Amino acid sequence: MGIIQRAVLHSRPGKNSEPVAENFCVEEASLADGITDGQVKVRTLYLSVDPYMRCRMNEDTGADYLLPWKLGEAADGGGIGVVEESKYGSFTAGDTVCSFNWPWQTRAIVEGKILQKLHPELVGGHLSYFLGAVGMPGLTALFGVKEKGHVTLGAGQTMVVSGAAGACGSLAGQIGRLEGCSRVVGISGSDEKCSILVSELGFDAAVNYKGGNLAQKLHECCPAGVDVYFDNVGGDVSDIVISQMNQNSHVILCGQISQYNKDVPYPPPLPSRTEAALRDKNITRDRFLVLWYADKHEAGILQLSQWVREGKLKVRETVTKGLENIGAAFQSMMKGGNIGKQIVLVSEE
Ligand code: NDP
Repeated sequence: MGIIQRAVLHSRPGKNSEPVAENFCVEEASLADGITDGQVKVRTLYLSVDPYMRCRMNEDTGADYLLPWKLGEAADGGGIGVVEESKYGSFTAGDTVCSFNWPWQTRAIVEGKILQKLHPELVGGHLSYFLGAVGMPGLTALFGVKEKGHVTLGAGQTMVVSGAAGACGSLAGQIGRLEGCSRVVGISGSDEKCSILVSELGFDAAVNYKGGNLAQKLHECCPAGVDVYFDNVGGDVSDIVISQMNQNSHVILCGQISQYNKDVPYPPPLPSRTEAALRDKNITRDRFLVLWYADKHEAGILQLSQWVREGKLKVRETVTKGLENIGAAFQSMMKGGNIGKQIVLVSEE
């Protein structure tokens, strides 16, 4: 038996509260020495913490595609690691693999069928990108813009992105530009984030929504109104953006993180003024889930990795070291502590 560390869900925050690091605890456990047919033993390199995990902390996730985490059991989510031993398919020791259901453990024995083999050369060896720019958040930004944005090259559209300095948002703005928007404006929660958006990530302007006067500042940044809105946050920020949208414009309803610590359905109800603005201005605002485009994932990964290698897509990450800090990393991400994708480094490559 080998001794490993694992991060378990220790307590549920409750539907109407902010999650805290102490909702998780890290404990020792033992791992069997041998594996059976169909199994793979892996060592964890990187884990992802994502907003959707807030739903998994509730007894009822409110979403049919998400199972709740069980109290006292290792949590799981996006992860990357190295195969140490395999009795499944073509996996061999030394392969780099990923899964959407990677256990929050330093090492694990998993069913081989949950793993996908990674090709590190796609990301120049920067493996953690497979959890961000060349992974689920990147695909979310790409499909959101392409499937729901109605971006048209040469049409002179202005795109606004909320949660713009986060994993999806930082990519969505850049992809909006690559796809043809002529002006891209970010909204984020600090002056530092806003300055990175403009100086490093190619946004034309950025507004700190915590600095007051969002409506006026946004209007100054978008003198011709808003044609495409990539919405990561919902709530007051989105009500203001929608009030400045043009006739026949488009909301990409990616997420509503400002409402995730409240007991409301998804998507959360909108104030009647915002409902009226959507209706009167014929604004589209369809639900959108990256999972719906599984048949396009492979092509999407190739597109994203190519843009990253060509330097057309700039990548930002916030890396927290140590499995013991994963709860703190999750809490921090939910409150805006991250710039770019929040990653947890569990062991060195
Ligand atoms: P981020 O990296 O963007 O991290 C979350 C960010 O949300 C924080 O950094 C913080 O930035 C911002 N935030 C937190 N609370 C608030 C608030 N009350 N108001 C405004 N902003 C807030 O996470 P992701 O990129 O992984 O996810 C972004 C969104 O995309 C989420 O809503 C998520 O649920 C959604 N999503 C949807 C998918 C889909 O298939 N539809 C797939 C993946 C993600 P700040 O400092 O700016 O406040």
